[in-house]
Amino acid sequence: MSTKDYVEKDYYKVLGVPKDATAAEIKKTYRKLAREFHPDANKGDAKAEERFKDISEAYDVLSDEKRRKEYDEARSLFGNGGFRAGGPGGGTYNFDFGDLFSGSGAGGGGGGIGDVFGGLFNRGGRQAQPRRGADVETEVTLSFVEAVDGATVPLRMTSQAPCRTCAGTGAKSGTTPRVCPTCVGAGTVSRGQGAFALSEPCRDCKGRGMLVDDPCTVCHGSGRASSARTMQVRIPAGVQDSQRIRLKGKGAQGERGGQPGDLYVTVHVDDHPVFGRKADNLTVTVPVTFPEAALGGTIEVPTLNGPTVKLKLPAGSANGLTLRARGKGATRKDGTRGDLLVTVEVVVPKHVTGDALSALEQYREATASDDPRAALFKAAEGA
Ligand SMILES: [Zn+2]
Ligand SMILES: [Zn+2]
Repeated sequence: MSTKDYVEKDYYKVLGVPKDATAAEIKKTYRKLAREFHPDANKGDAKAEERFKDISEAYDVLSDEKRRKEYDEARSLFGNGGFRAGGPGGGTYNFDFGDLFSGSGAGGGGGGIGDVFGGLFNRGGRQAQPRRGADVETEVTLSFVEAVDGATVPLRMTSQAPCRTCAGTGAKSGTTPRVCPTCVGAGTVSRGQGAFALSEPCRDCKGRGMLVDDPCTVCHGSGRASSARTMQVRIPAGVQDSQRIRLKGKGAQGERGGQPGDLYVTVHVDDHPVFGRKADNLTVTVPVTFPEAALGGTIEVPTLNGPTVKLKLPAGSANGLTLRARGKGATRKDGTRGDLLVTVEVVVPKHVTGDALSALEQYREATASDDPRAALFKAAEGA
Protein backbone atom coordinates (compact mmCIF):
# COMPACT_ATOMS: atom_id res chain seq x y z
CA MET A 1 0.00 0.00 0.00
CA SER A 2 1.32 3.43 -0.83
CA THR A 3 0.56 7.08 -0.85
CA LYS A 4 -0.84 6.48 -4.30
CA ASP A 5 -3.31 4.01 -2.85
CA TYR A 6 -4.32 6.50 -0.24
CA VAL A 7 -5.02 9.10 -2.84
CA GLU A 8 -6.81 6.84 -5.28
CA LYS A 9 -8.83 4.53 -3.08
CA ASP A 10 -11.94 5.53 -1.26
CA TYR A 11 -11.91 3.21 1.71
CA TYR A 12 -15.05 4.74 3.11
CA LYS A 13 -16.88 3.90 -0.07
CA VAL A 14 -15.49 0.37 -0.06
CA LEU A 15 -16.95 -0.23 3.38
CA GLY A 16 -20.02 1.88 2.68
CA VAL A 17 -19.61 4.04 5.78
CA PRO A 18 -19.71 7.83 6.10
CA LYS A 19 -16.42 9.71 6.50
CA ASP A 20 -17.24 10.54 10.07
CA ALA A 21 -18.15 6.97 11.00
CA THR A 22 -17.05 5.93 14.48
CA ALA A 23 -14.56 3.13 15.04
CA ALA A 24 -17.42 0.96 16.31
CA GLU A 25 -19.49 1.60 13.19
CA ILE A 26 -16.55 0.74 10.97
CA LYS A 27 -15.87 -2.46 12.86
CA LYS A 28 -19.50 -3.55 12.71
CA THR A 29 -19.78 -2.88 8.99
CA TYR A 30 -16.50 -4.63 8.29
CA ARG A 31 -17.58 -7.76 10.14
CA LYS A 32 -20.82 -7.95 8.24
CA LEU A 33 -19.11 -7.48 4.86
CA ALA A 34 -16.27 -9.85 5.71
CA ARG A 35 -18.75 -12.61 6.51
CA GLU A 36 -20.62 -11.94 3.31
CA PHE A 37 -17.60 -11.92 1.00
CA HIS A 38 -15.33 -14.35 2.82
CA PRO A 39 -13.65 -16.74 0.30
CA ASP A 40 -14.85 -19.75 2.30
CA ALA A 41 -18.42 -18.70 1.71
CA ASN A 42 -17.86 -17.81 -1.96
CA LYS A 43 -15.73 -20.62 -3.32
CA GLY A 44 -14.53 -19.96 -6.86
CA ASP A 45 -16.11 -16.50 -7.01
CA ALA A 46 -13.26 -14.23 -8.19
CA LYS A 47 -15.34 -11.08 -7.78
CA ALA A 48 -16.17 -11.85 -4.17
CA GLU A 49 -12.52 -12.61 -3.53
CA GLU A 50 -11.51 -9.26 -4.97
CA ARG A 51 -14.15 -7.51 -2.93
CA PHE A 52 -12.98 -9.31 0.21
CA LYS A 53 -9.43 -8.06 -0.41
CA ASP A 54 -10.66 -4.50 -0.86
CA ILE A 55 -12.73 -4.69 2.29
CA SER A 56 -9.77 -6.01 4.29
CA GLU A 57 -7.47 -3.34 2.95
CA ALA A 58 -9.94 -0.59 3.76
CA TYR A 59 -10.50 -1.96 7.23
CA ASP A 60 -6.76 -2.24 7.85
CA VAL A 61 -6.41 1.48 7.36
CA LEU A 62 -9.68 2.79 8.79
CA SER A 63 -9.51 0.65 11.94
CA ASP A 64 -6.14 2.08 12.84
CA GLU A 65 -6.63 5.55 14.24
CA LYS A 66 -3.22 6.79 13.13
CA ARG A 67 -3.43 5.36 9.65
CA ARG A 68 -6.96 6.61 9.23
CA LYS A 69 -5.80 10.10 10.10
CA GLU A 70 -2.99 9.93 7.59
CA TYR A 71 -5.37 8.63 5.00
CA ASP A 72 -7.88 11.43 5.63
CA GLU A 73 -5.02 13.90 5.48
CA ALA A 74 -3.75 12.62 2.16
CA ARG A 75 -7.18 12.62 0.59
CA SER A 76 -8.18 16.04 1.82
CA LEU A 77 -4.98 17.47 0.39
CA PHE A 78 -4.94 15.77 -2.94
CA GLY A 79 -8.60 15.49 -3.66
CA ASN A 80 -10.66 12.38 -3.61
CA GLY A 81 -8.80 10.39 -6.18
CA GLY A 82 -8.74 13.20 -8.68
CA PHE A 83 -5.00 13.43 -8.53
CA ARG A 84 -2.68 10.82 -9.95
CA ALA A 85 0.57 10.75 -8.11
CA GLY A 86 3.68 9.05 -9.26
CA GLY A 87 4.35 8.27 -5.64
CA PRO A 88 6.78 5.96 -3.96
CA GLY A 89 6.54 2.31 -4.88
CA GLY A 90 4.82 1.32 -1.70
CA GLY A 91 5.61 -0.49 1.47
CA THR A 92 4.98 2.41 3.78
CA TYR A 93 1.91 3.88 5.33
CA ASN A 94 3.68 7.05 6.24
CA PHE A 95 2.74 9.93 4.12
CA ASP A 96 6.21 11.24 3.58
CA PHE A 97 6.23 14.78 2.31
CA GLY A 98 9.99 14.88 2.26
CA ASP A 99 9.94 12.65 -0.76
CA LEU A 100 7.25 14.65 -2.40
CA PHE A 101 8.95 17.98 -2.06
CA SER A 102 12.28 16.85 -3.36
CA GLY A 103 10.71 14.94 -6.19
CA SER A 104 12.98 12.02 -5.41
CA GLY A 105 10.02 9.85 -4.64
CA ALA A 106 8.59 10.07 -8.11
CA GLY A 107 9.01 6.64 -9.53
CA GLY A 108 6.28 6.16 -12.08
CA GLY A 109 4.52 8.38 -14.56
CA GLY A 110 3.65 12.00 -13.97
CA GLY A 111 5.76 14.93 -13.00
CA GLY A 112 5.82 14.36 -9.26
CA ILE A 113 3.71 16.07 -6.70
CA GLY A 114 6.41 18.58 -5.91
CA ASP A 115 5.98 20.25 -9.30
CA VAL A 116 2.27 20.59 -9.00
CA PHE A 117 2.13 21.68 -5.41
CA GLY A 118 5.39 23.55 -5.36
CA GLY A 119 3.69 26.86 -4.82
CA LEU A 120 1.87 25.45 -1.88
CA PHE A 121 4.86 24.11 -0.06
CA ASN A 122 7.81 26.31 -0.79
CA ARG A 123 7.14 28.14 2.41
CA GLY A 124 8.65 25.07 4.05
CA GLY A 125 10.21 25.54 7.44
CA ARG A 126 8.67 28.92 8.11
CA GLN A 127 7.81 29.28 11.74
CA ALA A 128 4.22 29.52 12.85
CA GLN A 129 3.02 32.99 13.75
CA PRO A 130 3.00 34.19 17.34
CA ARG A 131 -0.42 33.79 18.86
CA ARG A 132 -1.99 36.33 21.17
CA GLY A 133 -3.18 34.97 24.50
CA ALA A 134 -6.90 34.63 25.10
CA ASP A 135 -8.95 37.28 26.85
CA VAL A 136 -10.08 36.16 30.26
CA GLU A 137 -13.35 37.06 31.97
CA THR A 138 -13.76 37.16 35.69
CA GLU A 139 -15.92 38.76 38.34
CA VAL A 140 -15.26 40.42 41.63
CA THR A 141 -17.49 41.72 44.39
CA LEU A 142 -16.44 44.90 46.14
CA SER A 143 -17.81 46.49 49.23
CA PHE A 144 -19.48 49.85 48.71
CA VAL A 145 -16.49 51.65 50.21
CA GLU A 146 -13.97 49.77 48.05
CA ALA A 147 -15.90 50.73 44.94
CA VAL A 148 -15.94 54.38 45.92
CA ASP A 149 -12.30 54.60 46.94
CA GLY A 150 -10.80 52.05 44.59
CA ALA A 151 -9.25 48.88 45.90
CA THR A 152 -6.52 46.38 45.24
CA VAL A 153 -8.14 42.99 45.29
CA PRO A 154 -6.63 39.53 44.95
CA LEU A 155 -8.05 37.73 41.93
CA ARG A 156 -7.52 34.02 41.66
CA MET A 157 -7.16 33.27 38.00
CA THR A 158 -7.15 29.94 36.31
CA SER A 159 -5.68 30.35 32.90
CA GLN A 160 -3.89 28.42 30.28
CA ALA A 161 -0.14 28.79 30.52
CA PRO A 162 2.61 26.83 28.82
CA CYS A 163 3.05 23.43 30.48
CA ARG A 164 6.07 23.57 32.75
CA THR A 165 7.05 19.95 32.28
CA CYS A 166 7.53 20.24 28.53
CA ALA A 167 8.02 24.01 28.39
CA GLY A 168 4.97 24.25 26.18
CA THR A 169 6.21 21.98 23.42
CA GLY A 170 3.75 19.19 24.30
CA ALA A 171 6.50 16.61 23.78
CA LYS A 172 7.56 14.11 26.42
CA SER A 173 10.83 15.07 28.07
CA GLY A 174 13.74 13.87 26.00
CA THR A 175 11.76 14.09 22.78
CA THR A 176 11.11 17.01 20.48
CA PRO A 177 8.08 17.82 18.39
CA ARG A 178 8.48 17.51 14.64
CA VAL A 179 7.41 19.98 12.02
CA CYS A 180 3.85 19.27 10.90
CA PRO A 181 4.12 17.76 7.42
CA THR A 182 0.73 19.07 6.38
CA CYS A 183 1.51 22.74 6.79
CA VAL A 184 5.30 22.43 7.00
CA GLY A 185 5.37 24.36 10.22
CA ALA A 186 3.34 27.30 8.97
CA GLY A 187 0.27 26.48 11.03
CA THR A 188 -1.91 27.35 8.06
CA VAL A 189 -2.66 25.56 4.84
CA SER A 190 -3.95 26.77 1.50
CA ARG A 191 -6.94 25.09 -0.01
CA GLY A 192 -8.22 25.64 -3.49
CA GLN A 193 -6.17 26.91 -6.36
CA GLY A 194 -4.66 30.10 -7.71
CA ALA A 195 -6.75 33.16 -7.06
CA PHE A 196 -9.25 31.07 -5.14
CA ALA A 197 -6.76 29.67 -2.68
CA LEU A 198 -7.79 30.16 0.91
CA SER A 199 -5.53 30.08 3.89
CA GLU A 200 -6.91 28.37 6.96
CA PRO A 201 -5.51 26.95 10.18
CA CYS A 202 -3.95 23.56 9.68
CA ARG A 203 -6.29 20.90 11.00
CA ASP A 204 -3.61 18.36 11.72
CA CYS A 205 -1.51 20.42 14.06
CA LYS A 206 -4.37 22.75 15.07
CA GLY A 207 -2.39 25.72 13.81
CA ARG A 208 0.63 25.06 15.99
CA GLY A 209 2.93 24.03 13.16
CA MET A 210 4.35 21.13 15.10
CA LEU A 211 3.28 17.57 15.75
CA VAL A 212 4.06 15.57 18.84
CA ASP A 213 4.62 11.83 18.51
CA ASP A 214 5.36 11.15 22.14
CA PRO A 215 3.13 13.42 24.17
CA CYS A 216 4.10 14.97 27.44
CA THR A 217 2.48 12.96 30.22
CA VAL A 218 1.47 16.03 32.15
CA CYS A 219 -0.35 18.04 29.47
CA HIS A 220 -1.08 15.11 27.15
CA GLY A 221 0.57 16.88 24.27
CA SER A 222 -1.39 20.09 24.39
CA GLY A 223 1.61 22.03 25.67
CA ARG A 224 -0.79 24.03 27.81
CA ALA A 225 -1.39 23.71 31.47
CA SER A 226 -4.08 25.11 33.62
CA SER A 227 -2.33 27.37 36.02
CA ALA A 228 -3.90 29.04 38.98
CA ARG A 229 -2.32 32.26 40.03
CA THR A 230 -3.44 34.96 42.36
CA MET A 231 -3.04 38.41 40.94
CA GLN A 232 -3.34 41.66 42.80
CA VAL A 233 -5.59 43.76 40.64
CA ARG A 234 -6.15 47.45 41.13
CA ILE A 235 -9.79 48.39 40.69
CA PRO A 236 -9.95 52.13 40.10
CA ALA A 237 -11.94 54.40 42.38
CA GLY A 238 -15.48 55.18 41.35
CA VAL A 239 -16.32 51.85 39.76
CA GLN A 240 -20.04 51.21 39.38
CA ASP A 241 -22.03 48.08 40.01
CA SER A 242 -22.05 45.80 36.92
CA GLN A 243 -19.24 47.77 35.30
CA ARG A 244 -16.80 45.76 33.21
CA ILE A 245 -13.18 46.80 33.55
CA ARG A 246 -10.52 45.93 31.01
CA LEU A 247 -7.04 45.26 32.35
CA LYS A 248 -4.74 45.21 29.39
CA GLY A 249 -2.24 42.35 29.18
CA LYS A 250 -3.55 40.59 32.29
CA GLY A 251 -5.26 37.77 30.38
CA ALA A 252 -3.82 34.47 29.24
CA GLN A 253 -0.20 34.36 28.13
CA GLY A 254 0.53 34.37 24.43
CA GLU A 255 2.14 31.55 22.51
CA ARG A 256 5.43 31.77 20.66
CA GLY A 257 6.13 35.26 21.88
CA GLY A 258 2.62 36.55 21.22
CA GLN A 259 1.07 39.31 23.30
CA PRO A 260 -0.90 38.30 26.38
CA GLY A 261 -4.68 38.68 26.24
CA ASP A 262 -6.68 41.11 28.31
CA LEU A 263 -8.49 40.53 31.55
CA TYR A 264 -12.08 41.69 31.84
CA VAL A 265 -13.39 42.05 35.34
CA THR A 266 -17.10 42.51 35.93
CA VAL A 267 -17.48 44.31 39.23
CA HIS A 268 -20.36 43.78 41.60
CA VAL A 269 -20.78 46.34 44.33
CA ASP A 270 -22.46 45.55 47.62
CA ASP A 271 -25.08 47.93 48.96
CA HIS A 272 -24.27 50.23 51.84
CA PRO A 273 -26.74 50.43 54.74
CA VAL A 274 -26.66 54.24 54.69
CA PHE A 275 -25.18 55.59 51.49
CA GLY A 276 -26.29 55.20 47.92
CA ARG A 277 -24.61 56.07 44.68
CA LYS A 278 -25.62 58.21 41.72
CA ALA A 279 -22.73 58.32 39.25
CA ASP A 280 -19.98 60.27 41.04
CA ASN A 281 -22.29 61.47 43.74
CA LEU A 282 -23.14 59.70 46.94
CA THR A 283 -26.62 59.94 48.38
CA VAL A 284 -27.92 59.84 51.92
CA THR A 285 -31.33 60.44 53.45
CA VAL A 286 -31.32 62.44 56.69
CA PRO A 287 -34.32 62.69 59.02
CA VAL A 288 -35.24 66.17 60.27
CA THR A 289 -37.94 67.29 62.69
CA PHE A 290 -40.87 69.45 61.71
CA PRO A 291 -39.50 72.44 63.69
CA GLU A 292 -36.09 72.02 61.97
CA ALA A 293 -37.75 71.97 58.56
CA ALA A 294 -40.05 74.87 59.40
CA LEU A 295 -37.63 77.10 61.28
CA GLY A 296 -34.42 76.07 59.56
CA GLY A 297 -31.16 75.30 61.30
CA THR A 298 -27.91 73.46 61.01
CA ILE A 299 -27.99 69.70 60.60
CA GLU A 300 -25.10 67.31 61.05
CA VAL A 301 -24.69 64.74 58.29
CA PRO A 302 -22.47 61.63 58.14
CA THR A 303 -20.06 61.19 55.24
CA LEU A 304 -18.53 58.00 53.91
CA ASN A 305 -15.33 57.30 55.86
CA GLY A 306 -14.86 60.89 56.83
CA PRO A 307 -15.81 63.39 59.52
CA THR A 308 -19.39 64.54 59.65
CA VAL A 309 -20.36 67.72 57.85
CA LYS A 310 -22.72 70.44 59.00
CA LEU A 311 -25.24 71.71 56.49
CA LYS A 312 -27.51 74.71 56.70
CA LEU A 313 -31.14 73.74 56.44
CA PRO A 314 -33.14 76.74 55.20
CA ALA A 315 -36.31 77.77 57.02
CA GLY A 316 -39.38 76.33 55.34
CA SER A 317 -37.61 73.28 53.87
CA ALA A 318 -40.08 70.90 52.29
CA ASN A 319 -39.95 67.18 52.87
CA GLY A 320 -37.66 65.60 50.21
CA LEU A 321 -35.52 68.69 49.67
CA THR A 322 -32.00 67.80 48.60
CA LEU A 323 -28.95 69.60 49.94
CA ARG A 324 -25.48 69.24 48.54
CA ALA A 325 -22.22 68.67 50.43
CA ARG A 326 -19.59 69.46 47.82
CA GLY A 327 -16.62 67.13 47.38
CA LYS A 328 -17.96 64.48 49.74
CA GLY A 329 -18.94 62.04 47.01
CA ALA A 330 -17.14 59.29 45.13
CA THR A 331 -13.66 59.77 43.75
CA ARG A 332 -13.56 60.40 40.01
CA LYS A 333 -10.97 59.13 37.56
CA ASP A 334 -9.12 62.45 37.71
CA GLY A 335 -8.92 62.32 41.49
CA THR A 336 -11.58 64.96 42.09
CA ARG A 337 -14.66 63.96 44.01
CA GLY A 338 -18.37 64.11 43.43
CA ASP A 339 -20.84 65.49 45.95
CA LEU A 340 -22.87 64.06 48.76
CA LEU A 341 -26.55 64.60 48.02
CA VAL A 342 -28.46 64.92 51.27
CA THR A 343 -32.20 64.42 51.08
CA VAL A 344 -34.16 65.59 54.10
CA GLU A 345 -37.03 63.54 55.40
CA VAL A 346 -39.37 65.19 57.85
CA VAL A 347 -40.20 62.70 60.57
CA VAL A 348 -43.56 62.76 62.30
CA PRO A 349 -43.50 61.59 65.91
CA LYS A 350 -45.70 58.55 66.58
CA HIS A 351 -46.56 59.55 70.14
CA VAL A 352 -46.69 63.07 71.46
CA THR A 353 -47.04 63.62 75.18
CA GLY A 354 -46.48 66.17 77.91
CA ASP A 355 -45.07 69.57 77.04
CA ALA A 356 -44.64 68.63 73.43
CA LEU A 357 -48.32 67.75 73.19
CA SER A 358 -49.51 71.02 74.73
CA ALA A 359 -47.09 72.95 72.55
CA LEU A 360 -48.44 71.25 69.46
CA GLU A 361 -52.04 71.90 70.50
CA GLN A 362 -51.13 75.53 70.98
CA TYR A 363 -49.55 75.58 67.56
CA ARG A 364 -52.71 74.12 66.05
CA GLU A 365 -54.83 76.84 67.57
CA ALA A 366 -52.42 79.50 66.44
CA THR A 367 -52.57 78.27 62.86
CA ALA A 368 -56.28 77.35 62.76
CA SER A 369 -57.05 79.92 60.09
CA ASP A 370 -54.49 78.46 57.72
CA ASP A 371 -56.17 75.82 55.61
CA PRO A 372 -53.49 73.86 53.76
CA ARG A 373 -56.15 72.39 51.43
CA ALA A 374 -57.81 75.68 50.48
CA ALA A 375 -55.78 75.99 47.26
CA LEU A 376 -56.53 72.36 46.41
CA PHE A 377 -60.32 72.79 46.59
CA LYS A 378 -60.19 76.05 44.72
CA ALA A 379 -58.23 74.38 41.91
CA ALA A 380 -60.62 71.40 41.91
CA GLU A 381 -63.69 73.67 41.57
CA GLY A 382 -62.13 75.84 38.93
CA ALA A 383 -61.34 72.94 36.66
ZN1 LIG B 1 0.05 21.64 10.43
ZN1 LIG C 1 3.53 19.22 28.84
